[in-house]
Parts: sequence; structure tokens; C-alpha cells
Amino acid sequence: MFDLVKKLTEIPGPVGREERVQRFLHDTFKEYTDEVRMTNIGNLLAHFPGEGKKVVLNAHADEICYFVQSITDDGFLKVSPHVRPVGMDLYAIRHCTIGQRALLMGNENDLRGVFAAATGHILRKSEIEKSIEYWDIFVDVGASNKQEVWEAGVNVGCPIIWNPTTEKFGKKITGKAMDDRVGLAVMATLAERVADCNLAFDLYMASTVQEETNAKAGSSALAFEERFDIAISLEPGLAGDIPTIETVRMPTKLGDGPALVYKDGSLVYDYETLKSLTLVAERNNIPFQSVVYVNFASDCETLVAGNARPCLITVPCRYTHSPFETIHEEDLRDTVELLYYFLTK
Ligand SMILES: [Zn+2]
Repeated sequence: MFDLVKKLTEIPGPVGREERVQRFLHDTFKEYTDEVRMTNIGNLLAHFPGEGKKVVLNAHADEICYFVQSITDDGFLKVSPHVRPVGMDLYAIRHCTIGQRALLMGNENDLRGVFAAATGHILRKSEIEKSIEYWDIFVDVGASNKQEVWEAGVNVGCPIIWNPTTEKFGKKITGKAMDDRVGLAVMATLAERVADCNLAFDLYMASTVQEETNAKAGSSALAFEERFDIAISLEPGLAGDIPTIETVRMPTKLGDGPALVYKDGSLVYDYETLKSLTLVAERNNIPFQSVVYVNFASDCETLVAGNARPCLITVPCRYTHSPFETIHEEDLRDTVELLYYFLTK
């Protein structure tokens, strides 16, 4: 599972430029079904025919990113945060961005660089004491002037991502884009497991684009691509098992199994599907957690427009929307097990 997660999370797939992730997944799905198609907006949809209600498992291919907002005369890049520069996102971005290696997707090649800010060695005392603001951060790609940046195929609008490697510490996996490559890893693993099974549903698996936008463009389009009875979104969830958070605020823990979400910031999830999943977990001794989120949303937010009953299963994750999102390998395995038994029995 780690090898798959490492491979998936390290593929660059900023919002609107998910094609490399989709290509990888297309080749994976193709091994297990002939029915794989790319939709007009760029969603990838794989079909595993079966008798019963139409279920779509879905996870998004895109990741948190920045865009080149302007290029200075001396060749530095000022960046705009991804499409939702509000609340916790801006907070997360500001505090963990400086020092990250950057990867810029130019028009011809990828460029490497670093998210930087002025060192305290050359700041005034008053500047050192004030907290870092978003506009204090810039990207240094090693260029000497604007011309060099242009010649490297970079213009305003090119996306930039954090570019750490994905590592395993004990049973935990840390890296960028767990959101939402863990969902894709679960689907890719399930595709192999269910390929030759009698399914209890007519099953689809969708890798959507542009989830990290207010419009959730990919899943908005998916809602009208097929009429699904049930939509099950797979996402990294929230976890409160770190020293500075009281358990009552977020009781979910890494290693205690997938978290079934009853509500989040935009939806209340389908009671019947939640009960079925709970029953399947109990009968098969699969650990699971039940959870309620406040600052959270999924692709189901827009998939309900097509009349699908919404369901959200999350793999608990620490430090969401950061370059060091951290999950537990066994939670991933248990999520696969839960869905396997749900879809086949
Ligand atoms: Zn997500």
C-alpha cells in the first residue's frame, strides 16, 4: 500500500492540471475493466458492471496548489494561493509554506525552486517580531531576471505545488496530496479486488478534477454524466490525536479505522448507507470510527445535484492541507476491506 501511495502522492496534479494523475489511474483501471472513459471536463470514469443500484466511488485527482500571480523584474515569482484563500486554508498555507521545495508546471517543462522569505539576518527587529504575512512569501526558481523566467516557459497562471517526497515513519505515511490520492489508492486497490467478483451494485469509480475549488467543477459535471443512486466520496479526514488538540474537539485517531462521516460543513450524509456500512464493518470485524466534521466538504456536495444519496468515508489524517499530511497505513487497508465487503456481499 505504501508504494502505491508514494507513487500517487508524488505525481504533480495541481487544480486544473490533473492529467498526469489521470493517466496513471487510467492505466491502472484498464487492467481490470474495459470500460474506462475520460469525460469532457477531465474526470476519469471506470465501470465495473453488476446487478443492483448504481454506486459511484469517487475521489479527486487534484491537490492544493498555487498559481504564478506575477513575475518580478529580477525573476522571482509572487504566487496566489489555490482557489479558496479563506479561513483555515490560508492559515495552513502561511505557516507551512516557507522552506518547502516548489515544483512549477511550466508550458514545456517542470521547474524546481523553493518557497522563500527574507532571512532574519537581514530584517529589521520590528520585521522579525511581526508574524509572516502571505505577501512576504515568494518562489525562487534560480532565475536572474524576468526574461529568463519567460524563456523557461513560465507565465502568469502556471501552477506551483509543494514538492516533498512521501516517507514512511513506523506505520504512518507523510507527504503532500494525501488529499486526495489516498482516495485514489483505495479505488485502485479495490479495482483489482472486485474485478472478478459478483458485485452487489452496478459499480463506477470516478477520479474527479478541480475539487479544491468552490464550484467543485469535476464532481458538478459528474453528477450529470451518469445518474447514480449512491455516491461514496473517499477523502482523508480529520484527526485530533496530536498534543495541542483536546479529544472532545476531534475524537478521531489514526490507526482506529476508517471514519464514517455523519455530517460535515455542507451535507448530512445518507443514514441508510451509513447503517449498512456499520453493519458490514461489525460483521467482518473491521475497525471503524463515526465522526462529525465542521470545516470540511466533499465531492458529494455537488454529486447530490444528480439525485445520488451522499456518503463520505474518510481515512483519518493529521495536518490536512499541508505538505506533511499524515495517515496510518492500516486505516487505508481497513477502508479497502470495508468497501470490498460492502460492494460484494
Ligand atoms: Zn480533498
